[in-house]
Amino acid sequence: MKMTRISYKLNHIQHYYGDKKVLDIDSLKILQGSITGLTGPNGSGKSTLLKIMAFALKPSTGEVWFNGRKEFVLSPRVRSRITLLTQKPYLLKRSVFDNIAYGLKIRKDMDNLENRINDALESVGLAHKEFAQRQWHELSGGEAQRVAMAARLILKPEVLILDEPVASVDAKSAGQIRKASLAAREEWGCTIIIASHDLPWLYECSDTRISIANGQIFSTGTENIIPPPYDLGKDYPVKWLGKEEDAEHIRLPPREKSDGFAVIQKEKVRISLEKEKKNSDNQITGEITSMLIEKSCNHIMTTVHAGDLSLNISFPPDQAERLKLLPGKKIILMFRSQDIEWR
Ligand code: ADP
Repeated sequence: MKMTRISYKLNHIQHYYGDKKVLDIDSLKILQGSITGLTGPNGSGKSTLLKIMAFALKPSTGEVWFNGRKEFVLSPRVRSRITLLTQKPYLLKRSVFDNIAYGLKIRKDMDNLENRINDALESVGLAHKEFAQRQWHELSGGEAQRVAMAARLILKPEVLILDEPVASVDAKSAGQIRKASLAAREEWGCTIIIASHDLPWLYECSDTRISIANGQIFSTGTENIIPPPYDLGKDYPVKWLGKEEDAEHIRLPPREKSDGFAVIQKEKVRISLEKEKKNSDNQITGEITSMLIEKSCNHIMTTVHAGDLSLNISFPPDQAERLKLLPGKKIILMFRSQDIEWR
């Protein structure tokens, strides 16, 4: 499918809760039929941004354009086309069948109901025979999330917004939610925006990535955030990677402002199997947690954990082969403190 039309355009969006600014986005575009993965630390503004894009929250300032028109909360043009699914879905205190049929009943769109509910259940991996007549309280967390997803997919929304959809579900449900999202894009060109902490899961679903920190967008997945807290250190700021006395730390460059985030570009991080005498002043031990082929460039997108840090790096397949890189392997991440930026 060719992705050229713009679904969303956000201009100069700011949002405040009281006098606290939590979102400050100068400009953002989302293409029709794209699947955008939104990542960022807790409290960085992801949910607020998703609510604004679902037209469930009016931003304090700025404009949200949808399908080439400036739109507003409660506009009938957006209400039937955009749907939001959150981490803890709300189900009606009724059967699975009634929950999924509810949206269609409201629209008086009841043709072929039984078959459509069957298909919707199937799309999230739930057997009609086993689940259709179950009550809302007879479902596991993952099954409830899949029913909520089916209840939205049956309406064939133009935009599906998922806020931490797999944060409290089992691995099988997470897989089914991913499969159903990809099928929605394939079948009717659904535009999908997903916020998730589960990076490997998110990277398998999405083709566009946005990272957000402190309410601001950091282009599209080319940077890694080194999250706070930061320590003042003796001569330079420091990020500790553990609480123990012998914990490793990252040396950070001098700070210009006190509320910034430390950021390093993906391509500035090198991998080695052993610490080296010279070169980078930062050499930290990490463990590979996932490796995925990036379809767009055929590189291997690798997630490495070190303390509370989760870094994404990408390299060509021959390097993975040469260093025998595999999930679970301990490696050394090397980068220079002067390549770290404050934002
Ligand atoms: P994320 O989804 O990335 O965790 P949120 O958008 O939920 O971030 O929150 C961004 C910031 O706004 C946080 O500091 C949070 O505490 C604050 N916040 C979120 N919702 C409200 C609210 N309804 N009232 C006041 N502050 C809020």
